[in-house]
Amino acid sequence: MEVREHVPLSKLTTLKVGGEALLVVTIASLDDIGVGLAQVRERNLSFVVLGEGSNVLASDEGYAGAVLLMRIPGIVIERNQHNALVRAAAGVSWDELVRAVAEEGLWGLENLAGIPGTVGAAPVQNIGAYGIELERVLVCVDAIDVRTDTSVTFARDACGFSYRDSRFKHEPWLIITHITVCLAYAGVPQIGYSDLHTAHEHGEDLGSPRAIGQTVRNIRAQKFPDLAVYGTAGSFFKNPIISQNRFKELTKHYGALPSFPMEQGVKIPLAYILDKILGLRGYKHEHTFLFGNQPLVLVAEAGASAHEVDTLAQEIEKKVVEATGISIEREVRNIHTHEWK
Ligand code: NAP
Repeated sequence: MEVREHVPLSKLTTLKVGGEALLVVTIASLDDIGVGLAQVRERNLSFVVLGEGSNVLASDEGYAGAVLLMRIPGIVIERNQHNALVRAAAGVSWDELVRAVAEEGLWGLENLAGIPGTVGAAPVQNIGAYGIELERVLVCVDAIDVRTDTSVTFARDACGFSYRDSRFKHEPWLIITHITVCLAYAGVPQIGYSDLHTAHEHGEDLGSPRAIGQTVRNIRAQKFPDLAVYGTAGSFFKNPIISQNRFKELTKHYGALPSFPMEQGVKIPLAYILDKILGLRGYKHEHTFLFGNQPLVLVAEAGASAHEVDTLAQEIEKKVVEATGISIEREVRNIHTHEWK
């Protein structure tokens, strides 16, 4: 376990903005959680858990608490007669897990290739891409409940999953340590989304989890800026889900507005609203802008501040509500919204 003081949050988050965290404790094993928490409590600090910081906006003022940097390693694959159970630790990079199971020929995670972040962060927002959400393959999530310092296992149905949401987003006293997924020995490529369908039509090999994973990574590379150059947290906002009636009203003004039916209503691609209705593709505010290839992606250039990111995001929220009446939600979270003491 490593303990550091006064660490810039810009180094711990992919948006690359934010002031210093007072304390950063690297958690490399289950035992480190207990030892780390003891130090945090001794200093009477609140804490947040960070993985790769790929969905977090840290403020310019920094964080006067402790960051528990989740780095527990390990992937264990248990093959049964009909499927494989894969238990991965929270500190593993998500894409490392996707690659590892693809190398084993296991189906189920391939559409989720290339999503930044750690395994521990994946259930928090029920990551999803190209028609597959984590909940489809998830068996259970192991966590430590810091209110009682006990381990708890949540079966899938107890995780409160919905679109980019779960109980873990709202219960900061739970530190996720492992997830278990159930993967198949054979599968059918899920190519319902147009990007993958087009790849298929262009003759790309989509015959194995490894090939699909690589195709998805190639597609994503076009839609997201190079992290070596820019700061970004990927999609900054959630795609809104609105009622059928609201959608009908909107199509009176915006006839071509695309939509996808969901259990709770109608999902609207926010990128369409930002691009085609508001003309905001590439829109720039100081050192921040909406990415030209995918306007849902907010980019921070070198020299950007958290305040600039927040100002651009607020401006977008205002423009969307004015044009459509839709109050959009951020996918990226403020560090304070997930702290616990
Ligand atoms: P996209 O594929 O252009 O899709 C834009 C929107 O349309 C999304 O809301 C998507 O739903 C929806 N959509 C597109 N085709 C659909 C279909 N055939 N059926 C139902 N809904 C459909 O989005 P993108 O921005 O380029 O991102 C690619 C994929 O990566 C998307 O699935 C996106 O959600 C995902 N992604 C996930 C995260 C995350 O988990 N945090 C972050 C960034 C991107 P869905 O959102 O339900 O897919």
